[in-house]
Amino acid sequence: MIDALERLLLPAECLVCHSLLSDARSQDLICPICRSRMRAVRPPWCGRCGQPEPHFGPCRLCREWPAALQSVRSAVWLDDGARAGVHALKYRGLSRIATDLAVVMSRLVPRPGPDARLIPIPLSARRERRRGYNQSLSLARALGRQWQLPVLAQLLVRTRDTATQTALTPAARLANVAGAFQVRNGECEMRNDNGRHEIVARHSAFRTPHSALVLVDDVFTTGATLAEAARALEQAGFTTISAVTFGRASIPDFN
Ligand SMILES: [Zn+2]
Ligand SMILES: [Zn+2]
Repeated sequence: MIDALERLLLPAECLVCHSLLSDARSQDLICPICRSRMRAVRPPWCGRCGQPEPHFGPCRLCREWPAALQSVRSAVWLDDGARAGVHALKYRGLSRIATDLAVVMSRLVPRPGPDARLIPIPLSARRERRRGYNQSLSLARALGRQWQLPVLAQLLVRTRDTATQTALTPAARLANVAGAFQVRNGECEMRNDNGRHEIVARHSAFRTPHSALVLVDDVFTTGATLAEAARALEQAGFTTISAVTFGRASIPDFN
């Protein structure tokens, strides 16, 4: 319904290059050419954080991460096309763009096991109210549809906003997000496809080695936010955590 409305309101043109999309493609927001220009993040990389920088000795990017955070993978580099997609997801609230980005992710990132649960990186309640939605939740739900995996939308909460991280070094970013997340002790909710909340299980039901959690976020820069979210989950007893992001920003002066 919302998708149909968006189709009526938006011209059928590519979000990145503004070329007109054919009728058959009018569902998509990014044209096939721009899509093919997105650069996949490829190995060789650090087996844990997925950073393809050359490493000598232990990886500087992930050595401070909590042990439970075992692997992070990103689909594409944050070039112009990918950045336009993320921007649309973040600031225009289009559910179709979440689907477009999730399709790219599901093609490039291996699907987690069937027991995995997707966990969107939460916004603070205040920021989510102001924006009207959480872009990581939109992305997690779209990815859940691609991978046929449930989304636990309420397990993790953000207790405070953090200052913008753009200008910070990796170490300063970790300090900036310290203590920003908490795990709910009560029930977990899962949002199904028509947006209704369903309480699927007591939190404790997921505290088993089989409950692999997969954090979902739009962009990876240094992994500080993912690491802090994983730290909160680890402290709550979860031992198997990975993360996937759509984009990966290259880090200036980091090697
Ligand atoms: Zn295009
Ligand atoms: Zn690493």
